[in-house]
Amino acid sequence: MQDKCGVVGISSEDPCRNVAKSIYYALYALQHRGQESAGISVYDGKVVRTHKAMGLVAEVFNNSRIGALEGPTGIGHVRYSTTGESAIKNSQPILVKYKDSSVAIAHNGNLVNAGKLKEELEAEGEVFHSTSDTEVMARLFVRAMLEREDPVEAVRTIMRKAVGSYSVVLLMGNTVIAARDPLGIKPLCVGKTDSDVIIASESVAIDTLNGTLVRDVRPGEMVIARDGDVRFYQLSRYQCPAHCVFEYIYFSRPDSIMDGRLVYDVRVRIGATLAEEYPYDADTVTPVPDSGITFAIGYHQRSDIKYRECLMKNRYIGRTFIMPGQEMREIAVKLKMNTIRPNIEGKRIIMVDDSIVRGTTSRRIVDMVKSAGAKEVHVRIGSPPILAPCYMGIDMATREELIAAHKTVAGVEAVINADSLGYISHEGLVRAIGIPRDQLCMGCLTGVYPIEIPGEVCRLAQTKITEYIPE
Ligand code: SF4
Repeated sequence: MQDKCGVVGISSEDPCRNVAKSIYYALYALQHRGQESAGISVYDGKVVRTHKAMGLVAEVFNNSRIGALEGPTGIGHVRYSTTGESAIKNSQPILVKYKDSSVAIAHNGNLVNAGKLKEELEAEGEVFHSTSDTEVMARLFVRAMLEREDPVEAVRTIMRKAVGSYSVVLLMGNTVIAARDPLGIKPLCVGKTDSDVIIASESVAIDTLNGTLVRDVRPGEMVIARDGDVRFYQLSRYQCPAHCVFEYIYFSRPDSIMDGRLVYDVRVRIGATLAEEYPYDADTVTPVPDSGITFAIGYHQRSDIKYRECLMKNRYIGRTFIMPGQEMREIAVKLKMNTIRPNIEGKRIIMVDDSIVRGTTSRRIVDMVKSAGAKEVHVRIGSPPILAPCYMGIDMATREELIAAHKTVAGVEAVINADSLGYISHEGLVRAIGIPRDQLCMGCLTGVYPIEIPGEVCRLAQTKITEYIPE
């Protein structure tokens, strides 16, 4: 599973400051959200200057490239593609002409009606240069700006027309504009340093810059940052937001604070809940690194079963692992993980992981641990079974590929060769996150989505909430 993108925007009160280096560090902190391309745009007082390329942040930028991006206001982006091919033309920030300058835009999320909006805009004469839904948002914004020259109204237009998930930052002259979709599906937060306002997908980017987290951007809220000053505008409100549960389970870094919660604490609680729901008298509890570590700590704390690492991850494997493609995935598992044999031999092991998508990775890891001499391997999973695809910006798998969509828990247990298998319950997960169930997106776990998707069941239809209420 891969998230689609991380975004950052910085506005400094110091007109002599160059924010590109800070944006670079922030993108480094957000690298886990996308590894295919990276880009930075800054406004130098006259024009928007951009550098972007395929690759990791450290590969795309060096001192001279950052040095060429001068200016106190800018935005940045790391990308993993879901909508639009993995190509430089889809890398971000995307620039769209506005009067005698440009607007730059960077987006995390996925618009489910991007195709329809694009057709409508093309019929009105717009010419698109990418296959990305982000350009659709950019063109909606610029058209609205050309009509009324009011950024608040332009973002309101996006919120009225775009359906899907979006945490978005725009650079327009010396102003950073940001918005979170009315359901708050993807995260976005605001922080401050002595001189700068920082808007970022996750608070770890603010930490990296020695900033202080001010607060999350609320669902349906817009932020305008100019000359180090920040203003918030609540443009729309759904009765029930729909925060993505997988941000808590897997995507976000554990040291991030999201919607007022430390992700690490949520994951420890998930592990503890697994210990309550699926106890077993084992010798060792161990994580599948790295994402299973915090869950395993929670399981160990609640069960008192000894915590020991049994698998070691090769942290230098690089981007090959996250590049799409079945063959690559298979080789990558072998390259990525090795067993710590003395911790495994003769032991009954509880192995904790974040999720099972296709089952192939889990099977290989269980087999690896059994080959290293484990007496029993009991798998515990920090998410409920994934039954349906994600349409909101997570590259998960098709319904056909999702093992839990076609097999019972016992069936999955047999496929992955585990001695037992326990997924956290929906109730247990909701409790661990600490947000009411009707304020979470659990579409891929239930098949009931917070927005209308052709052929799928929509939560809004069930709860009779159909429109957000513009203020
Ligand atoms: S469908 Fe699943 S992965 Fe997608 S936004 Fe909802 S909870 Fe997150």
